[in-house]
Amino acid sequence: YRMKDDGKNNYTIFKPIPNSGIERLTLENSIRKALQLNEFVLYYQPKIDTLTGQIIGTEALVRWNHPTLGLIPPGKFIPIAEETGLIVPLGEWVLRTACSQNKIWKEKGYPPMSVSVNLSSRQFSKHNLVESIKEILLETRIDPQYLELEITESMTMNVEVAIEVLGRLKELGIQICIDDFGTGYSNLYYLKLFSIDRLKIDQSFVRDIMTDSNDANIVATIIAMAHNLGIDVIAEGVETKEQLDFLRSQGCHEVQGFYYHPPLPAEQIEQLLLKTLSMKPTSQR
Ligand code: C2E
Ligand code: MG
Ligand code: MG
Ligand code: MG
Repeated sequence: YRMKDDGKNNYTIFKPIPNSGIERLTLENSIRKALQLNEFVLYYQPKIDTLTGQIIGTEALVRWNHPTLGLIPPGKFIPIAEETGLIVPLGEWVLRTACSQNKIWKEKGYPPMSVSVNLSSRQFSKHNLVESIKEILLETRIDPQYLELEITESMTMNVEVAIEVLGRLKELGIQICIDDFGTGYSNLYYLKLFSIDRLKIDQSFVRDIMTDSNDANIVATIIAMAHNLGIDVIAEGVETKEQLDFLRSQGCHEVQGFYYHPPLPAEQIEQLLLKTLSMKPTSQR
């Protein structure tokens, strides 16, 4: 596999994914321990409606707050967690934490925001995914329409299982988004098979929108296709005003990226909510 190096500038240097069996085993054991010690933490990146400037939701992005190595980005441990199956308990923790946090923000009186959670194929093919999500929804009492699951087309999943699981998730009222849209090989096939609520245009297309006319055309086409299919569309990795203007001119009004905000700890999201809405939270408890 190849790991992603998205946003790696933000992090302290960490060794690349180890190749030797022993190092991998060590990392596997460390991840297991980190789960027990509660060393994982969620950052949240705001999703912005550019028409209103409002935060319409956040994407939960996991980090490992390592006691000596500092904040470790997901690209360094998610692949190992996927290989070893540790992604299942880790993914459950992410879902539960993201839903609880979203509920807390709602209870504090902020306007409704969705929370998007990334899902690995390993979680997806697990039969208890639907059950565990049901449980988390009951536990946290969040409105299912405010939970969005991000799946990627690179997922090596059994199509029949996927159709069944996605169908059951849709019955729960959850939103489904195809992440990194355009980078996989079966994108359009997915659209045909599954009822998808949203496409997220991969940041690799957004990056060179202003200099590469192919990328600009691809992005414009994805946006038009989403509109024609009645699917929402969001762009990730928006870093400049020019990129934003182009996306808006093509009719894409939901964006995520450093131009607005990087992923932030929950407390900073709350400060942002307070600032941008210039309102005081009214507790409804
Ligand atoms: P992703 O879901 O496509 O997330 C977007 C990545 O782009 C994030 O990197 C985010 O920090 C980064 N990003 C956001 N805005 C910008 C921008 O304007 N410019 C650039 N260059 N990058 C931007 P991050 O947090 O390192 O996550 C990397 C990947 O790790 C995610 O890609 C996702 O596939 C995976 N991941 C993160 N959290 C989880 C999780 O809880 N579960 C699973 N299964 N995967 C996760
Ligand atoms: Mg994502
Ligand atoms: Mg993405
Ligand atoms: Mg991406």
